[in-house]
Amino acid sequence: MKVLVIGSGGREHAIAWKLSESPKVSKVYCAPGNGGTANEKKCENIDIKPLDFERLANFVQENNIYFTIVGPEEPLAKGISDYFEEKGLKIFGPKKDGALLEASKSFAKEIMVSAGIPTAYYREFDNFEGALKFLKEKGVPIVIKADGLAAGKGVTVAHNFNEAEKALREIFIDNLFGEAGNKVVIEEFLTGEEASFIAITDGKNILPFASSQDHKTVYDNDTGPNTGGMGAYSPAPVVDHGVYEKVMNSVMYPLLNELKKKNIDYKGFIYAGLMIDKGEPKVLEFNCRLGDPETQPLLFRMKSDLFDLIDCAINGELDKFDITWYDEYSVGVVMTSGGYPKEYEKGFKITGLESVSSDVKVFHAGTKFQNGEFITDGGRVLCVTARAADLKTAIDKVYGEVSKINFNKCHYRKDIGLKGLIKNNR
Ligand code: ATP
Repeated sequence: MKVLVIGSGGREHAIAWKLSESPKVSKVYCAPGNGGTANEKKCENIDIKPLDFERLANFVQENNIYFTIVGPEEPLAKGISDYFEEKGLKIFGPKKDGALLEASKSFAKEIMVSAGIPTAYYREFDNFEGALKFLKEKGVPIVIKADGLAAGKGVTVAHNFNEAEKALREIFIDNLFGEAGNKVVIEEFLTGEEASFIAITDGKNILPFASSQDHKTVYDNDTGPNTGGMGAYSPAPVVDHGVYEKVMNSVMYPLLNELKKKNIDYKGFIYAGLMIDKGEPKVLEFNCRLGDPETQPLLFRMKSDLFDLIDCAINGELDKFDITWYDEYSVGVVMTSGGYPKEYEKGFKITGLESVSSDVKVFHAGTKFQNGEFITDGGRVLCVTARAADLKTAIDKVYGEVSKINFNKCHYRKDIGLKGLIKNNR
C-alpha cells in the first residue's frame, strides 16, 4: 500500500518513519517532507504544499494512494478532509467542523462546558471595552487567548495588569492576529503541572495513547519565551493511574458524546493539553492533531503497527484494535537554531549524524538534504529520541547522542525529562 503524509515537521517525520516500518506499506510520500523524510527507507518527498488541496488530491488519485494522514492543524481547519471525502479519498483527520476544537478557543470552551469537562472558568468577548471591564473586575493573574489559530502566539499568561491590557490592545486595537483575534477568551489562571494526553477516535470508539509531557519554554527550568516545544518524554509520571482514568471518564468520553450530539463525525487524533493539580486534571486546550514533539517519543515507544491503527480508525473499527507500547521510557530532545523562537539564521551544515547509535532515532524537522549534506532550514531542527528501561537511562542515552551532533549556533534544553525523574524519586 502507498500512503501520503502531509506536513514537514518532526511529527511528520515520526509518522512517516512509523508507517514505513509496517510490512503492509510499500511507499510513504511526504508533502512536502524534510531532509529526514527524504532519506527514510520507503519514503519520498513530493513538492506540494499542505494547503494545495487540489494538487494533493490529484496526486493521490494518480498514484493510487490508499490513505492520507494530516500532520498539522492548518489544512484540517481549512477543510482538507471535507475536500478529500467529497472526492471519495480516504483521509485521517477531522473535517472543518471537528477541527474547530482547535481552531476556535471559544468553540472548545463552549463544548467543554456543555459536556461538563473540567476546565478553567472563562468569559468570551468580541470587543475591547467589554474585555477590559471584565479584566478590571477579575484582576491578575489571568490568561488572555485570541480565539483563532495563532501558531501558539495568541496566548498571554498575564501576571500584571499592564501585560493583560497590552494583550487585549494587541488583539482588538492593533489587530495583531487578524481574524483570529475577532474574539477573545479570558480565563482563570490555573496552577499545577502540565501534561499532554492524546487519543485516537473513529467517531464511535476512542483509544488513549500513552501519556507524555512537553517542555514549552526555550530555556531550562521552564524559563524564557514559549516555543513549539523543546522536548518531550513518555510516559509522564504526573499522569498516574488515577489521572489517566479521570481524563478518559471526565474528558475523552464526554467530549466524544458531545461531538456526536452536535452531529460532528470526528475521525482523527484528539490532543488534550492538561493542567494537573493534586491529581485533578483540567483541560487547557484541545488540538485536533498529534502534538509536536510528543509524537516523536510516543511513536518511538509504540509497538503496534501505525498503518493498521489508522486503517481501523478510518474504517470505524477501533473497537477491534488494542494499542500496545514498549514497556520503556522514551525521551526526545529538540535541537534548535540559536535565537529561536525569535530570529535565527539557517543554512548551516549539520555534523555528527552518522555517529549516532543505531538504536537511537533522529527525527528531522527544519532540515533539508542538499548535495549529500543535511543543512539547517528552520527553528526546530532535530528531535533526537532514545528509549530505555528507566527514565534516567533514557535521559542519559539521549543526551549522549545529542552531544555527538552539531551545527552553528545550535541550542537545546538540558533538562528534558527531569520533572519525571523528580516525580519518580519522590
Ligand atoms: P499551542 O502552541 O500548544 O497550540 P495555544 O496557543 O493553543 O498553544 P494554550 O495551550 O491554550 O495555547 O496555552 C499555551 C500555554 O499557556 C499553555 O501551555 C500553558 O502553559 C499556558 N496556559 C494556557 N491556559 C492557561 C491557564 N488557564 N492557566 C495557566 N496557564 C495557562
